[in-house]
Amino acid sequence: MDAATPPCSGRVLLGAGPSNIEERVLRALASPILANGDPALASLMAELQGLLQQVMGTVHPAFVIAGTGTAGMEAALLNLIEPGDHVAVGVAGYFGERMKRMAELCGGRVMQLSAPWGGRIDPEQVADAFREDPDLRVVALVQGETSTGALQPLAEIGSLVRAHDGFLVVDAVPTIGGQPVGVDANAIDVCYAGSQKALSAPAGVAPMACSARALARMRGRSCPVRSMYFDVAFLAEAWGRLELCPHTPPVSLYCALLEALRIVAEEGAARRFARHRRAQRALAAGLEAMGLVLYVDAPADRLWTVTAVRIPPGVSDAEVRRHIRSGFNVEISEGLGRLAGQIWRIGVMGSNCRPDYVLLVLTALERALLAQGFPCGSGLAAAETVLRADTEDTPNAPESLLAA
Ligand SMILES: *Cc1c(COP(=O)(O)O)cnc(C)c1O
Repeated sequence: MDAATPPCSGRVLLGAGPSNIEERVLRALASPILANGDPALASLMAELQGLLQQVMGTVHPAFVIAGTGTAGMEAALLNLIEPGDHVAVGVAGYFGERMKRMAELCGGRVMQLSAPWGGRIDPEQVADAFREDPDLRVVALVQGETSTGALQPLAEIGSLVRAHDGFLVVDAVPTIGGQPVGVDANAIDVCYAGSQKALSAPAGVAPMACSARALARMRGRSCPVRSMYFDVAFLAEAWGRLELCPHTPPVSLYCALLEALRIVAEEGAARRFARHRRAQRALAAGLEAMGLVLYVDAPADRLWTVTAVRIPPGVSDAEVRRHIRSGFNVEISEGLGRLAGQIWRIGVMGSNCRPDYVLLVLTALERALLAQGFPCGSGLAAAETVLRADTEDTPNAPESLLAA
């Protein structure tokens, strides 16, 4: 094999992330490197900031942490939590558990707000938490729990937290670019996200947005944040101010993310979100028509970017994924943590959020299940009906959604 040919060329990544990267973005990755003090770098960072603000729905400082989504999580919690602070973390899946563990490592006194995996945290639970503990300061939630495919609504909780003078941290790693995050509308104080899921950019840069009051709290800490690399107040201040240079900017990743965000802006966020919503509904309709059961029951509670489906009894998880990979060059994700072996996670997001990919993954899964002796029907007709439907709740959906 030619050394320049990757071994899995053409693999279609329809799992929980990363997703495939468009040519335009890959080319941006090969942009010439800029020196730390080049004014062109400052304008690149300014454009990044503006586009991030648009897609995250905020007028407040937006920037990126050099690291993956987990680095964003760590930076957010490390800066907002002082040792001894009272923190409530919503746990309804694997990433909620990760957030809780991290809040503990930051020295927080952590109260767990629980829901069954696949469920969501009720605003009443947050209200109760403030009633029980008037010293509660920080509330942390996962908007899109990719381990279960559940969507956490934020609006009511955001205003509740604000009314108690608390600070809301939100994980938007798999939702940014695929559905509204609404940082300002939902009164989110610190929001971190990921580049490699619905934005279809390379992993390694975590978008972040901070409210003015969150930055003020970070600056007013009684003990300094125990990290220089993740000093968020400084990173926010230093964004685009090259003389402050907190670390060497990963220029290639900035260029790629910028190109990915330009693609979002060209399509328009509303159209893009509608495209994701419709593709997810089509995928769900197809899976259900095949006789499969989605992990999250109510359609309104499902994440728009990643869908979890139960593995039917008697079917080999690994064999099905192997069949899909070798027969169709398609990758779907296994279950995480306690859901390993129980579900598959299918992500149709970013540049992969295409009608033909919805049909492809349904076909691949059908073939793999039939090969295992599971008597499933076809999901294609049900999915196509949704893809063609001109539903009133997606007024900005592209007319030519079926034209891949
Ligand atoms: C993927 C994911 C993360 C982790 O992001 P990395 O980029 O893998 O570090 C965190 N939270 C959620 C909800 C995710 O889906």
